[in-house]
Amino acid sequence: MGILSDDSVREALRSVPFPGFSRDIVSLGVVRQISIDGSSVSIELVVQNREDVVLRALEDRVKAVVSALSEVGAVNVKFVGPAPARLPSAGKPAPAEVKPAAPLAHRIIGVASGKGGVGKSTVAVNLAVSLAQQGRRVGFLDADVHGPSAPLMFGLEGRRPERADADGRPVPLEAFGVRVMSMGFFTERGNAVIWRGPIVGNFIKQLLGEVAWGELDDLVIDFPPGTGDAQLTISQTLQLSGVVVVTTPNELALIDAVKAIAMFQKVGVPILGIVENMSYFVCGHCQQTTEIFGSGGGSREALAHDVPLLGRVPIDPAVVAESDRGVPVVIERPQSPAGLAFAQIARAVIERTAARAETNLGLGAFLDRFGR
Ligand code: ADP
Repeated sequence: MGILSDDSVREALRSVPFPGFSRDIVSLGVVRQISIDGSSVSIELVVQNREDVVLRALEDRVKAVVSALSEVGAVNVKFVGPAPARLPSAGKPAPAEVKPAAPLAHRIIGVASGKGGVGKSTVAVNLAVSLAQQGRRVGFLDADVHGPSAPLMFGLEGRRPERADADGRPVPLEAFGVRVMSMGFFTERGNAVIWRGPIVGNFIKQLLGEVAWGELDDLVIDFPPGTGDAQLTISQTLQLSGVVVVTTPNELALIDAVKAIAMFQKVGVPILGIVENMSYFVCGHCQQTTEIFGSGGGSREALAHDVPLLGRVPIDPAVVAESDRGVPVVIERPQSPAGLAFAQIARAVIERTAARAETNLGLGAFLDRFGR
């Protein structure tokens, strides 16, 4: 066994998985600081989750692993909340004591799903455009790095961000009043990119921090489907206002949606609600409504999990063609049942996050509770 050092402690912590996940706390960036004073070791951990049971489990594992190192006496574990993501300040770096840079966005809203193909990106794009239609300054981060669809859906395909700010940071492209950043701007269409988890995490951090977003009221993040590393990295890096979980009402999709909800709850990210997409069909001729997958799947699950149903969007074949042409339905046909449903979902998200925006400022209380 080597000499006690920050590195030996960090190495030992690589064997501690985040409770409920297979990835270790070091690679997830949870370990912020290690300090050694004689034989006592202090470790600072950054966590979103405020549940005692998770924090205690983490503390016990960390203490057990570090205590087992030779020369270690006391082990002190301190929990801190993540700092809200901040824009690097423009121009010359300011001295540390000067006012901190502006937060990345007032609200950061993730759009997630348990499985692919349920309309997650369609919901994310229409949500962002609806928010912009209400006069808000909106950013859209396409974090679905394996299958980026934002360039197509925003009508920006084949384009690249060409302008940069004074610091050389790329300026997002803009469509329908939304500032858009996507991996798809930097790859050829159809070239599937296979990224490993940590690279995905780094890439997303870069897209968040090293892009000239400007001042934003809302940032909508289109997550990859499922419950992988990207979701966990973003949840740990950013203080999300919450996530919207998109599902279709069929049983298989619902099972995966429930898994996604459980994952976000486990890492302490608020669930803003469920969107049930492709819920029902409205006949274009007789306006009759048909529940294709059986009625009320989304509401059933929302109730079962005590999360609100933000809205139900009908299946509408024109949505596919509009997406492919790069014109969201809330622009092309705002008065259609699908257009109205998306606008209503945006209003529900604002309502749900208005309360959250206040509680976000409550990070101080969390830090006070667990010590700085
Ligand atoms: P995901 O992001 O979950 O993989 P997408 O948003 O890419 O899903 O949608 C998958 C496909 O379903 C796309 O072709 C999209 O146009 C279509 N789609 C999404 N929502 C609807 C809807 N309400 N009605 C009809 N087609 C839809």
